[in-house]
Amino acid sequence: MQNIIELKNIGYSYHSLHGETTALQNISFGIREGEFVAIVGPSGCGKSTLLSIIAGLLQPESGTIAVNNPDGSLHYPRVGYMLQRDHLFEWRTVYKNTILGLEINNMLTEERLSYVDQLLFDYDLDKFRNKRPSELSGGMKQRAALIRTLALDPQLLLLDEPFSALDYQTRLMVSADICHLIRNAGKTMIIITHDLSEAISLADRIIVLSARPATVQTEIPITLTLQDNSPLAARNAPEFPFYFNQLWEELTGEKRES
Ligand code: ADP
Repeated sequence: MQNIIELKNIGYSYHSLHGETTALQNISFGIREGEFVAIVGPSGCGKSTLLSIIAGLLQPESGTIAVNNPDGSLHYPRVGYMLQRDHLFEWRTVYKNTILGLEINNMLTEERLSYVDQLLFDYDLDKFRNKRPSELSGGMKQRAALIRTLALDPQLLLLDEPFSALDYQTRLMVSADICHLIRNAGKTMIIITHDLSEAISLADRIIVLSARPATVQTEIPITLTLQDNSPLAARNAPEFPFYFNQLWEELTGEKRES
């Protein structure tokens, strides 16, 4: 399958009164349609900067992003963002939160609203549509945030540490759940995470960035033998420790015993 977007030699520096911080240098990689890519790298290396460039929020200083839509059109993929916190507004009901993006973008059509209804139903939130966000569990809030994002029908979902505010056990369940829903919706996803196990269990490919200025240190395709569909299945796959050790070595330079 061909890449829907392709980054070529992307570079970016922040400029301030105190000088220049080069965040990204010569970053090149492609993303295939329907692919799940995880980006890992040392803290402060430039992961969020890279995501902002892919989202179109920052313009790269050097390099290009080429678009290859399967239908031959030249438009940039519609991008949806999910951040660390769900950013649901307490003064709006769950339903009013899920349609917020549609409201802001002036897209409150019958078709979109019935899609939101369908998602609320499919994601078991229908009974909570008139509740406030504080009445939902952490996992339900993330589902509501996902519906708000999917309502705009993005082709490419960018997730910046979306599960880091959740406690460990909830995080295992919610990350597997949300990614399963995104796969079922047929979307392409790029996720930033500092959790190596999460990266291995969710992604088809992991891009490891070097310390700042970030360059692509290596790319690791992930293939796991899964016994079932449970959130823990990926972590119990026989290949899991191998990938974990490989990533550990890439990030720390130290060999790890299995
Ligand atoms: P990561 O997401 O990997 O933690 P970031 O992309 O947030 O890293 O930041 C990369 C580097 O750029 C860091 O050293 C950070 O301090 C610097 N940086 C980020 N945003 C700004 C900004 N608005 N102005 C100046 N420097 C910034």
